Amino acid sequence: MKRIFGPIINGTDRKARGKKAGIMPGIPQETIDRVVNSTNIVELIGSFVALKKIGQNFQGLCPFHDDKTPSLSVSPEKKIFRCFGCGASGNAITFLRRHKNLPFPEAVRFLAGKARIPMDTEEDKNRELFLFCLVKAQVEFAAQLRSGAYRSAVNYLTERGINQGTQEEFALGYAGSVKDLIAALKKSGIKDKEIPLGVGLLKEKEQGITCPFMGRIIFPLTNERGATVGFGGRAIDSSSQAKYINSPDSVTFAKRKVLFGLKQLRISNDTVFVVEGYFDVLTLHEAGFKNTVGLLGTEISAEQTRILETLARSVILIFDGDPGGQAALLKCLKVQRRNLTVKAVVLPEGDPDEIVRSGKTAEFEALIEKAKPLREAAVEIINQRKRKESIEHLTEEVARIGTEIPDALEASLFAQEAAEALSLPAWVLQEKILGRREKKERIVERKRQLERFLVNELIIKPDLFPPEKLESIKDLFDDNDQKQILLHQVLKHA
Ligand SMILES: [Zn+2]
Repeated sequence: MKRIFGPIINGTDRKARGKKAGIMPGIPQETIDRVVNSTNIVELIGSFVALKKIGQNFQGLCPFHDDKTPSLSVSPEKKIFRCFGCGASGNAITFLRRHKNLPFPEAVRFLAGKARIPMDTEEDKNRELFLFCLVKAQVEFAAQLRSGAYRSAVNYLTERGINQGTQEEFALGYAGSVKDLIAALKKSGIKDKEIPLGVGLLKEKEQGITCPFMGRIIFPLTNERGATVGFGGRAIDSSSQAKYINSPDSVTFAKRKVLFGLKQLRISNDTVFVVEGYFDVLTLHEAGFKNTVGLLGTEISAEQTRILETLARSVILIFDGDPGGQAALLKCLKVQRRNLTVKAVVLPEGDPDEIVRSGKTAEFEALIEKAKPLREAAVEIINQRKRKESIEHLTEEVARIGTEIPDALEASLFAQEAAEALSLPAWVLQEKILGRREKKERIVERKRQLERFLVNELIIKPDLFPPEKLESIKDLFDDNDQKQILLHQVLKHA
């Protein structure tokens, strides 16, 4: 059953994707993806054709050929349909286009309207412009690195053992001169007033326009389609306040939706290695582990997990051998993972970069071999920590983690296994966790209602808050759709 629907990325198949991008340069792929993901395809097709649930999918008479037996199958999980009689297939947009004979943009607009996804051409234009600027900036940063004017940047990469081939493959750069950056943007046809301040590439300060990435090695970050959406930056001057910075979340960039090295990823054995740092990714690629991607200095997000689910069946999370690595592993438990086998390992010491760089590639491989299923790895950490920490403190932490695990059964199993590690009766932890989960659900629901209320008010009264207030309010939102609408409002005011 699994293979019927073929390779899927976010509910759109690869071939359809390429075609559409060509037809509709006006609607960004991101908006199209959001429309597809927010549309209930069973409800949509079900409003034209009677559908019956068979197993996980729905079946009905195909409207695209003279169908006598129900040949049309709809997958709510993959958000696509397929007819076994005439071969018609696609997503909600494809269906609507064919069935109502609508042009592509109108089908998108219709579904966007139903899902209340803003389709503002001004915003779309802005996003296109931002993406264009980011590509131009990436080229300029790479040129600055290779210009010979910034020896310390070149030396830094050499000292860290990153060879020329890898630097080019990952399109690494250096931000040495704001003046040259602006000149390069202008040379590619970007007008003064269009210089993008909204995506964190440049900032307007009293002394003029500055770039927060100055003095840093630049790591271009790409989305699933390989488009540059933001940057990571590593300071080469050790006195710099922050070693690493990333582009701020914006209309083009969301940290939780990006993995470093996605474009260079080559999957082997249906498995992806996920590491913490930029240099871990570069070093592992050089050592032949081309199936490695990096998190951007945080625990793995639900969105990143979803990307990985479309690429491979199994993931091994590799954490640095320090308390930070242990804590990051525990946090991963709160991410839902349906179609992905997740194993994890905390290295005994150091990070993958240090281990492989010191010639211990075989040892590294042996450590990866020993990766355990995520929950088991988490319980092992609890077990280790009980030698150094009080049981009360650990009980509290286990309860907190258990409250955040999305799946109730998994939370209960975690409580049971952690209780065993802490030599406590299982019910002590399970009761604690259950109570907190119920309370949390009530709070989450109330917050969701409040967010919806606020956004509705804002649509009616757009001047309710000044733009800078909106900017700070949006970070308090949990519901992503409501947040997007709010971002849209911010951008309209900017
Ligand atoms: Zn058909």
